Amino acid sequence: MSKVGVIGGGPAGCLAACTAALWSNDVTLIERNGKIGRKLLITGKGRCNVTNACPDIKGFISNVPVNGRFLYSGLYKFMTYDTMTLFEELGVPLKVERGDRVFPVSDKSSDIVDALYGYLKRSGVRVIFDTRVTDIKHDNNRFQVVCEGDKTFFFDRLILATGGASYGATGSTGDGYAFARALGHTVVELSPSLVPIESDDSCCKEMQGLSLKNVGIRILANRTGRTVYSDFGEMLFTHFGVSGPTILSATSHIRSVSPGQYTLFIDLKPALTEEQLDFRILRDFSEQTNKDFKNSLGNLLPSKMIPVIVERSGIDPAKKVNQITKSERLALVCLLKNFRIELTRLRPLSEAIVTSGGIDTKEIDPKTMESKLVPGLYFAGEIIDVDAYTGGFNLQIAFTTGFVAGNSQKDSRGERMFNIAIDGPGGAGKSSISKAVSKELGFIYVDTGALYRAVGLYCLRNGIKTDDTEAVTAALENVAVDFTYIDGEQRVTLNGEDVSEDIRLPEASMAASNVSAIPAVREFLLELQRKIAREKDVLMDGRDIGTVILPDAQLKIFLTASPEVRAKRRYDELIAKGKEVNFDDVLRELKERDWQDSHRETAPLKQADDAVLVDTSDMTFDEVKETIIRLYEERKNG
Ligand SMILES: Cc1cc2nc3c(=O)[nH]c(=O)nc-3n(C[C@H](O)[C@H](O)[C@H](O)COP(=O)(O)OP(=O)(O)OC[C@H]3O[C@@H](n4cnc5c(N)ncnc54)[C@H](O)[C@@H]3O)c2cc1C
Repeated sequence: MSKVGVIGGGPAGCLAACTAALWSNDVTLIERNGKIGRKLLITGKGRCNVTNACPDIKGFISNVPVNGRFLYSGLYKFMTYDTMTLFEELGVPLKVERGDRVFPVSDKSSDIVDALYGYLKRSGVRVIFDTRVTDIKHDNNRFQVVCEGDKTFFFDRLILATGGASYGATGSTGDGYAFARALGHTVVELSPSLVPIESDDSCCKEMQGLSLKNVGIRILANRTGRTVYSDFGEMLFTHFGVSGPTILSATSHIRSVSPGQYTLFIDLKPALTEEQLDFRILRDFSEQTNKDFKNSLGNLLPSKMIPVIVERSGIDPAKKVNQITKSERLALVCLLKNFRIELTRLRPLSEAIVTSGGIDTKEIDPKTMESKLVPGLYFAGEIIDVDAYTGGFNLQIAFTTGFVAGNSQKDSRGERMFNIAIDGPGGAGKSSISKAVSKELGFIYVDTGALYRAVGLYCLRNGIKTDDTEAVTAALENVAVDFTYIDGEQRVTLNGEDVSEDIRLPEASMAASNVSAIPAVREFLLELQRKIAREKDVLMDGRDIGTVILPDAQLKIFLTASPEVRAKRRYDELIAKGKEVNFDDVLRELKERDWQDSHRETAPLKQADDAVLVDTSDMTFDEVKETIIRLYEERKNG
């Protein structure tokens, strides 16, 4: 059982957090935006090409030109079909399109984002929004995560999933690289990948907006004459140069472009050999012998391209096609098969679909995603120096590495903490007995009331009326309550701040009483209480601990006493405090409260079927304590 921190709420961070939570860890995800998945939302032009239906690992890796082999064991654990199954199970039906690209049937990336958020909530991950991490330190096997606004969090394990450094408005500004560097990691130089390419050739501007569907592209290194990349498919002319899937993919192979370094050749008719194309042009010309050359190419080329081709061919635009010579025609064939554009430079990193470079894969264990330099530190997603072609491969890399990093947090498998649940009516002595037993057994006594007081305090501080169910429910999004234990003493933090003293103020108690009647608050705190119980040997007392909060507790006790005995104890207490009270009034009030407690709508007082009834009517305090300790020892020893 560990306290796991995940930095970054992109696809990698979300899957890492949910998977780590499956192993009963206490997981907190910190995201600088007010929502998860800002970049995910704009993927696939808002449709989200969530993965590629590529069924085998080798095939997948052939689409990962940078450090693909690093993914072998990860893909073995979480492949493309695992991503598809996951989203279908999360309620997002998927479809497969051309090139095995997988999209949600709805064509809405927001469905993928919402599904991930639902998964986070269901997994019990604590998500902290609007919090930018500014520094990470590693000391005494703990990670100290410092955030803007002086919030600090401590974790046993940390997963860095801050993404790359492109499309900074989405939150991915490359912060994680600096953290990793400060922790001793090497960051391979960053460069844009899957990015458009600029050209000074005016033809691009002339043809801007024109998309060519089935063309061949080839990029030649001018100095060596070597083809560095060739592909077939779609490309696009823009006001600054060229873009589209084939061009973007080419940039996975060339980390930089400078003027005079590379030339792009476009084969506009890749399905035809030069002879076949010449034959085709001859046929076209013979069908329109009296047309001017400039008007004869309509069957062969898109209209935006015709003026450019006519100009480059060197043939007089007004020449009748029946007068075009064979050499002019062969030059035209050559032009159509090798349309040439000099490339100038890549568009900047900020416009890249993917950041090339990142944490050196040699410093990461590919089986776990754990740093080889800093134990307990893990990496997931685009921050790692791995990048792929378009087609859903990059998101799959985020999901695979996220899953592996999360799945590596399985410390506590098989070791169950011992939980004791003590319920019972008011006046049975639950809290004093619970504190004494916890102390004797070395258990953590969880003061569940403190959690409600922390939520109440948040509302007070933020001007939220504690009896306004809707407002309090909405505010829960921004509340993170936690316990820490210093020398066995329970401390309570609210959004990273220690509020152990403030929650004792009378107004916080009043607020707590109001918010505890709100079902959403009870549900919200339920998961936290369960998490603490998964993490540590705990003793909790209340009125629904054994029935609702910890139904799996190994020892459940229903601590009670006759109304008369409980009223007598209460009466003696009040008299000792100098209050003037009448025993019959105390007894009547107690009976009224018993009735209300067992009939209230939210969390009624009820003895769990498997709870041991301990009637303390004729027992001393020490006898009750010893009885509970004996019951614990019997259960513990089987
Ligand atoms: C326009 C565009 C379209 C794309 N389309 C596709 C596609 O269709 N298919 C595909 O496979 N890939 C696509 N990609 C690539 C894909 O989006 C990324 O590879 C993927 O999002 C990487 O996931 P990640 O979780 O590693 O990082 P990100 O998605 O970048 O998430 C990182 C998160 O960390 C948070 N963060 C960063 N720094 C901090 C900090 N200091 N403190 C707290 N939080 C922080 C960020 O706010 C962000 O939410 C596209 C990319 C772009 C830009």
